[in-house]
Amino acid sequence: MNTKRLKEAVKKSAESMGKINENVKEYAKSTAKSTFKSGNKNFKDHKHCKICGKTISPTRDDLLCNSQDCIDTVEKDLKVKKQLRLWMIILVIALLSPQLLTLSGIL
Ligand SMILES: [Zn+2]
Repeated sequence: MNTKRLKEAVKKSAESMGKINENVKEYAKSTAKSTFKSGNKNFKDHKHCKICGKTISPTRDDLLCNSQDCIDTVEKDLKVKKQLRLWMIILVIALLSPQLLTLSGIL
């Protein structure tokens, strides 16, 4: 008698577990759908300033808000990057020029 009851109890709990599993699956599906939808909508509706993260108009291609601070930061960054690139080019030329000279000497 006891084992039969136990078996039934196990079977019942297994069934309910299966139901819960299905419910979880459905729930995950619905939430995934809704988050995807809203995320997609938000992405279409606006952009964020790449410096301060403020919401800006999606028509702005430079990804900057109207704040002068952000514009200045980007300009400074651009200058530093340009300078860095220049130094890199000088360094590469300096490293390669002896080899280039010897190559041209052989040819
Ligand atoms: Zn900004």
